[in-house]
Amino acid sequence: MAVVAENVRRVLSEVPDYVEVVAAAKARAAEDVLQAVDAGIRVIGENYIRDTRVAQSLVGQRAQWHFIGRLREHDVRLATLDLFDLIQSVSSMSLAQRIDEKCGAVGRRMPVLVEVNSGREPQKAGVLPEAAEDLVRQIASLDNVQVLGLMTMGPLGPSPSLYRPCFANTRQLFSHIETLSIPRVAMRHLSMGTSDTYRVAIEEGANMVRIGSGLFGPR
Ligand SMILES: *Cc1c(COP(=O)(O)O)cnc(C)c1O
Repeated sequence: MAVVAENVRRVLSEVPDYVEVVAAAKARAAEDVLQAVDAGIRVIGENYIRDTRVAQSLVGQRAQWHFIGRLREHDVRLATLDLFDLIQSVSSMSLAQRIDEKCGAVGRRMPVLVEVNSGREPQKAGVLPEAAEDLVRQIASLDNVQVLGLMTMGPLGPSPSLYRPCFANTRQLFSHIETLSIPRVAMRHLSMGTSDTYRVAIEEGANMVRIGSGLFGPR
């Protein structure tokens, strides 16, 4: 039974063509990740470095690899950065500076998204919405890191009335930053929504969603 493939095909047929479905692969078997890619997934989202290595040994460069987890500064090493095409979870200048330093040493430029704590939740990662523009401007001054958009988790809960406004606000922030035309910033990706929230996120303007259990089954 190719359950993962079936889920992937259903979700891909359900979302508009302009929406990139990122398969959030944390704690999944590499075989399942491969199945998702075979069924049409083009971007894998990883939270853990070790998982990433295992999955990449099977899937290789048939997909793009995005880091979506909590990145600690001491994790930002070249060997780690080498695994990823884009880092979705940059939420401080010191983290961006460290990425810049490491990438500069090998002449690489790392695309990143700035993670916004749109629900203002103390336990969640991300920069507060009112600080996001400033952080984007600061990161734009770095030679080897390029901002390509925003990412947010948003609060989880039974009712869309909890997370819809957070997605709507992040979309507004995204559009606002876009109108500033900050040199070297390209507001291309708005990554919002998970298995339980991606439909609402798309309604509110997401063009990238990160789906784990909705593709791979419950964890
Ligand atoms: C796990 C995770 C997801 C996917 O969550 P699901 O509820 O499994 O769809 C999305 N984004 C991030 C940052 C995650 O850690």
